[in-house]
Amino acid sequence: MSQPSTYRRSVITGPRQIEFEEVALPEPGPRQVLLKVAAAALCTWEQRVYSGIDHWSYPLLGGHEFSGDVVAIGAGVMQPLAPGDQVAVAGLRRCGECWACRRGYDNLCDNQHMPREPGRPSGPAGFGEYALVDGYQIYRYPKRVHPFEAALAEPLACVLHDVKRFMPRRGDTAVIVGAGIMGLLHLAALHNSGALVVVSEPDPTRRAKAHEMGAHAVIDPSTEDYVEAVRRLTEGRGASVQYIAIGLPAVIEHAIQAAAKRGSVSVYASVHPRGTSIQVDPNVFHHKEVVLSGSLAQDHEDFLDAVWSIAHQTIDLKPVLSGSFPLRQLERAFAAAARPDTYRVFLTPNGL
Ligand SMILES: [Zn+2]
Ligand SMILES: [Zn+2]
Repeated sequence: MSQPSTYRRSVITGPRQIEFEEVALPEPGPRQVLLKVAAAALCTWEQRVYSGIDHWSYPLLGGHEFSGDVVAIGAGVMQPLAPGDQVAVAGLRRCGECWACRRGYDNLCDNQHMPREPGRPSGPAGFGEYALVDGYQIYRYPKRVHPFEAALAEPLACVLHDVKRFMPRRGDTAVIVGAGIMGLLHLAALHNSGALVVVSEPDPTRRAKAHEMGAHAVIDPSTEDYVEAVRRLTEGRGASVQYIAIGLPAVIEHAIQAAAKRGSVSVYASVHPRGTSIQVDPNVFHHKEVVLSGSLAQDHEDFLDAVWSIAHQTIDLKPVLSGSFPLRQLERAFAAAARPDTYRVFLTPNGL
Protein backbone atom coordinates (compact mmCIF):
# COMPACT_ATOMS: atom_id res chain seq x y z
CA MET A 1 0.00 0.00 0.00
CA SER A 2 1.73 3.17 -1.12
CA GLN A 3 1.26 6.23 1.02
CA PRO A 4 1.36 9.92 0.09
CA SER A 5 4.34 12.03 1.18
CA THR A 6 2.13 14.59 2.92
CA TYR A 7 -1.20 14.50 4.74
CA ARG A 8 -3.87 16.86 5.97
CA ARG A 9 -4.58 17.57 9.61
CA SER A 10 -6.65 20.07 11.56
CA VAL A 11 -5.42 22.46 14.23
CA ILE A 12 -7.73 24.27 16.65
CA THR A 13 -5.91 27.60 16.92
CA GLY A 14 -8.38 29.62 19.02
CA PRO A 15 -12.04 29.88 19.96
CA ARG A 16 -14.04 28.71 16.89
CA GLN A 17 -10.89 28.81 14.78
CA ILE A 18 -9.77 25.80 12.82
CA GLU A 19 -6.89 25.66 10.39
CA PHE A 20 -6.08 22.81 8.05
CA GLU A 21 -2.47 22.16 7.23
CA GLU A 22 -0.63 19.81 4.91
CA VAL A 23 2.36 18.26 6.67
CA ALA A 24 4.96 15.62 5.84
CA LEU A 25 3.96 12.04 6.55
CA PRO A 26 6.29 10.92 9.35
CA GLU A 27 8.21 7.66 9.57
CA PRO A 28 7.55 5.83 12.82
CA GLY A 29 10.51 6.01 15.20
CA PRO A 30 11.42 3.28 17.68
CA ARG A 31 8.31 1.79 19.34
CA GLN A 32 6.00 4.02 17.31
CA VAL A 33 3.26 3.09 14.85
CA LEU A 34 1.89 5.18 12.00
CA LEU A 35 -1.88 4.90 11.57
CA LYS A 36 -4.27 5.93 8.84
CA VAL A 37 -7.17 7.36 10.84
CA ALA A 38 -10.51 5.62 10.13
CA ALA A 39 -12.84 7.47 12.54
CA ALA A 40 -12.43 10.04 15.30
CA ALA A 41 -15.13 11.09 17.74
CA LEU A 42 -15.69 14.66 18.93
CA CYS A 43 -15.48 14.54 22.71
CA THR A 44 -16.46 17.15 25.29
CA TRP A 45 -12.81 18.13 25.74
CA GLU A 46 -12.33 19.14 22.10
CA GLN A 47 -15.71 20.90 22.24
CA ARG A 48 -14.54 22.87 25.27
CA VAL A 49 -11.34 23.90 23.45
CA TYR A 50 -13.23 24.80 20.25
CA SER A 51 -15.81 26.87 22.13
CA GLY A 52 -13.13 28.66 24.19
CA ILE A 53 -14.03 27.33 27.67
CA ASP A 54 -10.65 25.56 27.72
CA HIS A 55 -8.40 28.34 26.42
CA TRP A 56 -5.05 26.92 27.51
CA SER A 57 -4.75 24.07 24.99
CA TYR A 58 -4.14 26.06 21.75
CA PRO A 59 -2.88 25.21 19.20
CA LEU A 60 -4.47 21.78 19.62
CA LEU A 61 -4.28 18.70 17.44
CA GLY A 62 -7.63 17.37 18.65
CA GLY A 63 -9.03 13.86 18.44
CA HIS A 64 -8.32 11.50 21.31
CA GLU A 65 -11.12 8.99 20.65
CA PHE A 66 -10.14 7.33 17.40
CA SER A 67 -9.54 4.16 15.45
CA GLY A 68 -7.39 3.51 12.43
CA ASP A 69 -5.45 1.10 10.27
CA VAL A 70 -1.79 0.29 10.82
CA VAL A 71 0.39 1.73 8.04
CA ALA A 72 3.97 1.36 9.29
CA ILE A 73 5.55 -0.11 12.40
CA GLY A 74 8.70 1.22 14.04
CA ALA A 75 11.50 -0.92 15.44
CA GLY A 76 10.90 -2.50 18.84
CA VAL A 77 7.08 -2.54 18.84
CA MET A 78 6.30 -5.61 20.91
CA GLN A 79 2.78 -6.63 19.92
CA PRO A 80 2.35 -8.64 16.74
CA LEU A 81 1.11 -6.08 14.24
CA ALA A 82 0.87 -6.02 10.47
CA PRO A 83 0.01 -3.22 8.06
CA GLY A 84 -3.77 -3.12 7.59
CA ASP A 85 -4.55 -4.25 11.16
CA GLN A 86 -7.40 -2.27 12.69
CA VAL A 87 -6.68 -0.67 16.02
CA ALA A 88 -8.31 1.52 18.66
CA VAL A 89 -6.15 4.22 20.24
CA ALA A 90 -5.78 4.97 23.94
CA GLY A 91 -4.63 8.58 23.63
CA LEU A 92 -3.59 8.92 27.27
CA ARG A 93 0.16 8.76 27.75
CA ARG A 94 1.59 6.59 30.54
CA CYS A 95 5.26 6.78 31.43
CA GLY A 96 5.47 3.49 33.33
CA GLU A 97 8.09 4.98 35.65
CA CYS A 98 6.27 7.38 37.98
CA TRP A 99 4.87 6.39 41.36
CA ALA A 100 1.26 6.30 40.09
CA CYS A 101 2.15 4.07 37.13
CA ARG A 102 4.14 1.73 39.37
CA ARG A 103 1.28 1.52 41.84
CA GLY A 104 -0.97 0.40 38.97
CA TYR A 105 -2.83 3.70 38.65
CA ASP A 106 -1.54 4.53 35.22
CA ASN A 107 -4.69 6.60 34.54
CA LEU A 108 -3.18 9.06 37.02
CA CYS A 109 0.33 9.08 35.47
CA ASP A 110 2.42 12.10 36.47
CA ASN A 111 3.63 12.45 32.89
CA GLN A 112 0.39 12.03 30.94
CA HIS A 113 0.80 15.40 29.26
CA MET A 114 3.66 15.82 26.83
CA PRO A 115 5.65 18.96 27.50
CA ARG A 116 4.32 21.65 25.17
CA GLU A 117 6.34 24.11 23.19
CA PRO A 118 4.38 27.39 23.07
CA GLY A 119 2.80 27.94 19.66
CA ARG A 120 3.64 24.46 18.37
CA PRO A 121 0.56 22.30 17.67
CA SER A 122 0.34 19.27 19.92
CA GLY A 123 -2.25 16.78 21.06
CA PRO A 124 -3.56 13.30 20.31
CA ALA A 125 -4.13 14.23 16.64
CA GLY A 126 -7.02 11.97 15.64
CA PHE A 127 -8.57 14.85 13.64
CA GLY A 128 -6.22 14.29 10.73
CA GLU A 129 -5.69 11.75 7.95
CA TYR A 130 -2.79 10.04 9.71
CA ALA A 131 -1.50 9.88 13.29
CA LEU A 132 1.74 8.74 14.87
CA VAL A 133 1.23 6.90 18.17
CA ASP A 134 3.23 4.77 20.58
CA GLY A 135 2.86 1.00 20.33
CA TYR A 136 1.50 0.72 23.88
CA GLN A 137 -1.35 3.07 22.97
CA ILE A 138 -2.97 0.82 20.39
CA TYR A 139 -5.27 -2.18 20.75
CA ARG A 140 -6.13 -4.45 17.86
CA TYR A 141 -9.78 -5.25 17.23
CA PRO A 142 -11.45 -7.67 14.80
CA LYS A 143 -12.44 -6.46 11.33
CA ARG A 144 -16.15 -7.13 11.95
CA VAL A 145 -16.24 -4.16 14.38
CA HIS A 146 -17.19 -0.83 12.82
CA PRO A 147 -14.50 1.88 13.19
CA PHE A 148 -17.04 4.19 14.91
CA GLU A 149 -17.58 1.64 17.67
CA ALA A 150 -13.84 1.01 17.94
CA ALA A 151 -13.25 4.76 18.34
CA LEU A 152 -15.53 4.63 21.37
CA ALA A 153 -13.23 2.20 23.19
CA GLU A 154 -11.64 5.26 24.84
CA PRO A 155 -14.77 6.77 26.45
CA LEU A 156 -16.15 3.31 27.22
CA ALA A 157 -12.90 2.45 29.02
CA CYS A 158 -13.30 5.61 31.15
CA VAL A 159 -16.84 4.54 32.05
CA LEU A 160 -15.77 0.97 32.84
CA HIS A 161 -13.11 2.45 35.10
CA ASP A 162 -15.80 4.32 37.03
CA VAL A 163 -18.23 1.38 37.16
CA LYS A 164 -15.46 -1.00 38.34
CA ARG A 165 -14.47 1.42 41.09
CA PHE A 166 -18.08 1.85 42.23
CA MET A 167 -19.88 -1.36 41.31
CA PRO A 168 -23.45 -1.61 42.58
CA ARG A 169 -24.49 -4.85 44.28
CA ARG A 170 -27.44 -6.89 43.01
CA GLY A 171 -30.57 -5.22 44.35
CA ASP A 172 -28.91 -1.83 44.84
CA THR A 173 -30.20 1.32 43.25
CA ALA A 174 -27.66 3.10 41.06
CA VAL A 175 -28.40 6.59 39.78
CA ILE A 176 -26.68 8.11 36.78
CA VAL A 177 -26.90 11.89 36.82
CA GLY A 178 -26.80 13.28 33.28
CA ALA A 179 -27.82 11.42 30.11
CA GLY A 180 -25.21 12.78 27.73
CA ILE A 181 -22.92 10.24 26.08
CA MET A 182 -21.05 9.46 29.31
CA GLY A 183 -24.24 8.91 31.32
CA LEU A 184 -25.63 6.69 28.58
CA LEU A 185 -22.41 4.66 28.42
CA HIS A 186 -22.73 4.13 32.19
CA LEU A 187 -26.27 2.89 31.54
CA ALA A 188 -25.06 0.49 28.84
CA ALA A 189 -22.24 -0.76 31.10
CA LEU A 190 -24.67 -1.41 33.99
CA HIS A 191 -27.09 -3.32 31.80
CA ASN A 192 -26.67 -6.73 33.43
CA SER A 193 -25.46 -5.54 36.82
CA GLY A 194 -28.59 -6.65 38.69
CA ALA A 195 -29.01 -3.14 40.07
CA LEU A 196 -32.04 -0.94 39.57
CA VAL A 197 -30.65 1.77 37.30
CA VAL A 198 -32.16 5.26 37.41
CA VAL A 199 -31.18 8.19 35.17
CA SER A 200 -31.67 11.84 36.14
CA GLU A 201 -31.76 14.27 33.22
CA PRO A 202 -33.65 17.52 32.57
CA ASP A 203 -33.71 17.27 28.76
CA PRO A 204 -36.77 15.29 27.56
CA THR A 205 -35.05 13.92 24.44
CA ARG A 206 -32.18 12.58 26.48
CA ARG A 207 -34.55 11.15 29.12
CA ALA A 208 -36.42 9.32 26.37
CA LYS A 209 -33.12 7.96 25.07
CA ALA A 210 -32.25 6.69 28.55
CA HIS A 211 -35.62 4.91 28.71
CA GLU A 212 -35.03 3.38 25.30
CA MET A 213 -31.62 2.12 26.46
CA GLY A 214 -33.11 0.31 29.44
CA ALA A 215 -33.18 2.73 32.39
CA HIS A 216 -35.60 1.30 34.97
CA ALA A 217 -36.74 4.79 35.98
CA VAL A 218 -35.95 8.38 35.07
CA ILE A 219 -35.99 11.59 37.09
CA ASP A 220 -36.62 15.05 35.67
CA PRO A 221 -34.67 17.30 38.06
CA SER A 222 -36.16 20.42 36.46
CA THR A 223 -39.65 19.59 37.76
CA GLU A 224 -38.96 17.24 40.67
CA ASP A 225 -36.71 17.56 43.71
CA TYR A 226 -33.82 15.17 43.00
CA VAL A 227 -33.27 14.06 46.60
CA GLU A 228 -36.97 13.39 47.16
CA ALA A 229 -37.21 11.52 43.86
CA VAL A 230 -34.32 9.22 44.78
CA ARG A 231 -35.89 8.56 48.18
CA ARG A 232 -39.26 7.84 46.58
CA LEU A 233 -37.67 5.28 44.25
CA THR A 234 -35.77 3.56 47.07
CA GLU A 235 -38.39 3.36 49.84
CA GLY A 236 -36.59 6.18 51.59
CA ARG A 237 -33.18 4.46 51.70
CA GLY A 238 -31.37 6.56 49.11
CA ALA A 239 -29.07 5.49 46.28
CA SER A 240 -26.22 3.03 46.85
CA VAL A 241 -24.17 4.38 43.96
CA GLN A 242 -24.47 7.69 42.11
CA TYR A 243 -22.39 8.54 39.07
CA ILE A 244 -22.20 12.27 38.41
CA ALA A 245 -21.80 12.60 34.66
CA ILE A 246 -22.44 16.34 34.53
CA GLY A 247 -20.05 18.99 35.86
CA LEU A 248 -22.36 20.93 38.20
CA PRO A 249 -21.35 21.46 41.85
CA ALA A 250 -24.97 21.60 43.13
CA VAL A 251 -25.60 18.16 41.67
CA ILE A 252 -22.79 16.71 43.78
CA GLU A 253 -24.28 18.32 46.90
CA HIS A 254 -27.69 16.81 46.11
CA ALA A 255 -26.17 13.40 45.46
CA ILE A 256 -24.50 13.40 48.87
CA GLN A 257 -27.90 14.13 50.44
CA ALA A 258 -29.52 11.35 48.39
CA ALA A 259 -26.91 8.70 49.26
CA ALA A 260 -27.95 5.52 51.09
CA LYS A 261 -26.05 4.23 54.10
CA ARG A 262 -22.61 3.18 52.80
CA GLY A 263 -23.57 4.77 49.50
CA SER A 264 -20.94 6.08 47.08
CA VAL A 265 -20.97 9.25 45.03
CA SER A 266 -18.54 9.24 42.11
CA VAL A 267 -17.69 12.56 40.50
CA TYR A 268 -17.12 11.37 36.94
CA ALA A 269 -17.33 14.72 35.11
CA SER A 270 -14.87 17.54 35.69
CA VAL A 271 -16.33 20.77 37.07
CA HIS A 272 -15.68 24.11 35.35
CA PRO A 273 -14.54 26.67 36.23
CA ARG A 274 -11.89 24.91 38.27
CA GLY A 275 -11.60 25.81 41.94
CA THR A 276 -15.35 25.65 42.60
CA SER A 277 -16.41 24.63 46.14
CA ILE A 278 -19.27 22.49 47.37
CA GLN A 279 -21.03 22.47 50.72
CA VAL A 280 -21.42 19.20 52.55
CA ASP A 281 -22.63 18.30 56.03
CA PRO A 282 -19.63 16.21 57.15
CA ASN A 283 -21.85 14.18 59.45
CA VAL A 284 -23.10 12.15 56.46
CA PHE A 285 -19.63 10.60 56.34
CA HIS A 286 -19.76 9.73 60.04
CA HIS A 287 -23.40 8.74 60.46
CA LYS A 288 -24.00 7.04 57.11
CA GLU A 289 -20.46 6.03 56.05
CA VAL A 290 -21.06 7.74 52.71
CA VAL A 291 -18.09 7.74 50.31
CA LEU A 292 -17.42 10.75 48.08
CA SER A 293 -14.84 10.13 45.36
CA GLY A 294 -14.48 10.22 41.59
CA SER A 295 -12.69 8.68 38.67
CA LEU A 296 -10.38 9.90 35.95
CA ALA A 297 -9.82 8.43 32.51
CA GLN A 298 -8.91 4.76 32.25
CA ASP A 299 -6.03 2.45 33.08
CA HIS A 300 -4.63 0.02 30.52
CA GLU A 301 -6.73 -2.86 31.84
CA ASP A 302 -9.95 -0.83 31.48
CA PHE A 303 -9.01 -0.20 27.86
CA LEU A 304 -8.50 -3.91 27.25
CA ASP A 305 -11.92 -4.59 28.82
CA ALA A 306 -13.55 -1.92 26.65
CA VAL A 307 -12.06 -3.31 23.43
CA TRP A 308 -13.12 -6.81 24.45
CA SER A 309 -16.67 -5.67 25.26
CA ILE A 310 -16.97 -3.92 21.90
CA ALA A 311 -15.45 -6.81 19.95
CA HIS A 312 -17.85 -9.30 21.60
CA GLN A 313 -20.79 -6.90 21.53
CA THR A 314 -21.52 -7.31 25.23
CA ILE A 315 -22.07 -3.55 25.41
CA ASP A 316 -24.21 -2.01 22.69
CA LEU A 317 -22.85 1.32 21.45
CA LYS A 318 -25.16 1.78 18.46
CA PRO A 319 -27.66 4.01 20.32
CA VAL A 320 -24.99 6.68 20.89
CA LEU A 321 -23.65 6.89 17.31
CA SER A 322 -24.91 10.20 15.89
CA GLY A 323 -23.57 10.44 12.34
CA SER A 324 -20.33 11.55 10.71
CA PHE A 325 -18.69 14.31 8.70
CA PRO A 326 -15.60 14.39 6.50
CA LEU A 327 -12.50 16.01 8.05
CA ARG A 328 -12.87 19.24 6.03
CA GLN A 329 -16.29 19.79 7.68
CA LEU A 330 -14.93 19.78 11.22
CA GLU A 331 -16.78 23.03 12.02
CA ARG A 332 -20.09 21.49 11.00
CA ALA A 333 -19.22 18.43 13.04
CA PHE A 334 -18.64 20.61 16.13
CA ALA A 335 -22.01 22.31 15.58
CA ALA A 336 -23.70 18.91 15.36
CA ALA A 337 -21.87 17.62 18.44
CA ALA A 338 -23.10 20.60 20.48
CA ARG A 339 -26.77 19.76 19.87
CA PRO A 340 -28.59 18.05 22.77
CA ASP A 341 -30.00 15.35 20.49
CA THR A 342 -26.57 14.05 19.42
CA TYR A 343 -24.27 11.85 21.50
CA ARG A 344 -21.16 11.01 19.50
CA VAL A 345 -20.46 12.64 16.17
CA PHE A 346 -17.53 11.26 14.12
CA LEU A 347 -15.04 12.52 11.60
CA THR A 348 -14.04 10.20 8.80
CA PRO A 349 -10.86 11.70 7.34
CA ASN A 350 -10.71 9.22 4.48
CA GLY A 351 -14.42 8.51 4.01
CA LEU A 352 -16.19 5.34 5.17
ZN1 LIG B 1 -13.07 11.75 25.48
ZN1 LIG C 1 3.58 7.54 34.90
